[in-house]
Amino acid sequence: MNFLSNFDLLSVGAAVTISGIFGFVVFLNNRRSVTNRTFLFFSLSFSVYSIFNYVSYQVESPRAALWLIRLVIFSAVWYSFSLFQLFYVFPNVRVRFSRAYTRILVPFTAFVSLLTLTPLVFQDLMEAPQVGQVAKVIPGPLVFLFGLLASFFVFGGLYLLGKKFLTSRGEEHVAFRFLLTGFLLSFPLYLVFNFILPVGFGNVSLIPLASILIFPFILYTTYAIVRHHILPIRVIAAEILTALVLLFSFVEIAFSTEIQERIFRAVIFVLLFIFGILLIRSVRKEVEQREELQRLAKKLSDFISFATHELRGPISAFKGAVSMILDGDFGKVPREVKGMLTKIYLEAEEMGQTVETFLNMNKIEIGKFNLMAEEHDFLAIIESAVEQAKYHAREKGVDLKFVKPKGEFPPVYCDRFKIKHVVSNLLSNAIKYNEEKGKVRVSVSQEGKSILVQVSDTGIGIPPDVLPKLFQQYQRGASEARRFAEGSGIGLWLTKKIIDLHGGRIWAESDGKGKGSTFSFTIPIHAVQRENGK
Ligand code: ADP
Repeated sequence: MNFLSNFDLLSVGAAVTISGIFGFVVFLNNRRSVTNRTFLFFSLSFSVYSIFNYVSYQVESPRAALWLIRLVIFSAVWYSFSLFQLFYVFPNVRVRFSRAYTRILVPFTAFVSLLTLTPLVFQDLMEAPQVGQVAKVIPGPLVFLFGLLASFFVFGGLYLLGKKFLTSRGEEHVAFRFLLTGFLLSFPLYLVFNFILPVGFGNVSLIPLASILIFPFILYTTYAIVRHHILPIRVIAAEILTALVLLFSFVEIAFSTEIQERIFRAVIFVLLFIFGILLIRSVRKEVEQREELQRLAKKLSDFISFATHELRGPISAFKGAVSMILDGDFGKVPREVKGMLTKIYLEAEEMGQTVETFLNMNKIEIGKFNLMAEEHDFLAIIESAVEQAKYHAREKGVDLKFVKPKGEFPPVYCDRFKIKHVVSNLLSNAIKYNEEKGKVRVSVSQEGKSILVQVSDTGIGIPPDVLPKLFQQYQRGASEARRFAEGSGIGLWLTKKIIDLHGGRIWAESDGKGKGSTFSFTIPIHAVQRENGK
């Protein structure tokens, strides 16, 4: 018995707490939405109703029992009304209530709810109440009004919901289905436990359980309301924390006995209230700003990706055409024209590389930088990079040679475009940071299970203190190198990213200023099982 009554209290307490918390979370998630507000209204009136309902059969005093039963009916009016309104407004943020709603239904509901507190609805108890039993009441002449209104709300609401469900499409249809499912999971049994058994059979033992039965409805509805826009957990946490602190502080005021203490606590309460609001505001603001920033970053990244993608095609078509003319495919080209065409080619080449770099950087930033690796004829990849760099070399007066390995060469597992990008980059640096009559040599060799590629030049060299920092983002070399204004300092950084992805290694060597440099990288010949992305 003791256990049972404890269980009663526990289940009612749990139901009230959970519905209260969900009600507030939904409300705080979007305070301006009428749907969210109505849900809070629903969860609160449910809580109040449950508490009255529970307490009403725990008392022995006839007066108290009668009044509690009246309060049960009173809150039942609002409880059923809130359910109706929830179905009426869901899922809208703003609703224009019809005149009939605001001028007739709401005042009439208020009127009936007040009536329930008078003998017109419940006259008196038939007999003295007993703890644990629903007291028998003498109905008043207007009790039918309550019955009519409550049934209207429940069945009318269900009718509205059913109609919306059947006529909606897509997203809304899904949302209505959630509500309907929650309703059907909760309410039939709820009605049995809460009305049919107690009123029809005088069995109240399942009333506390009924409160728990509402959970599916609360959960499904909460999900249906917030699923598209849930505030970050930090904001919700701040709000709940503030609410709890304020609640405690309020309880303290209520329980303080002396007037001074009460004033002191009231001041504390006001201060806590202000700080709470400030706290919530700042958390909200920060979160909103971050969201805004993310949105902008995404937009920018989409734009870069789009723009660079669009540029890629025309640039390479351009380069292809110019190089065909330069190579004499359409007959001999006069010397001056050749010079101009070379310039055009180099500009296009430069532009192509910049575009490629941006595209890749963008992909790295959004975490979509992946290899599209297959087995490839490796020498052909290097050759095509060298082939493309030859105009640049010729224009700069630099002697560029690819020293091919002798004998058979194995196919190499790699991302063709990315490896070509790496070699092109190294070559363009080797030519750019070179002197007239300088040399650039490219060599490829097989070293055990890896391929070693080396690009060496006789250019300006790299001071020892710069060497280790070379592959960092936005790292530009000594002032010596800065006279080459086009550089952006991301070329080598990206190069390293690509080689890392292949499971290889890249490094630079130089004997110092004016003594040339050698850039080397290795990659495994075969696909390697990489662990933890390394
Ligand atoms: P960028 O060339 O656009 O400045 P990189 O990342 O390709 O960016 O190179 C970074 C820096 O490394 C360059 O600014 C330059 O100082 C130095 N560097 C790269 N390659 C060479 C090279 N072959 N010889 C001398 N310095 C080089």
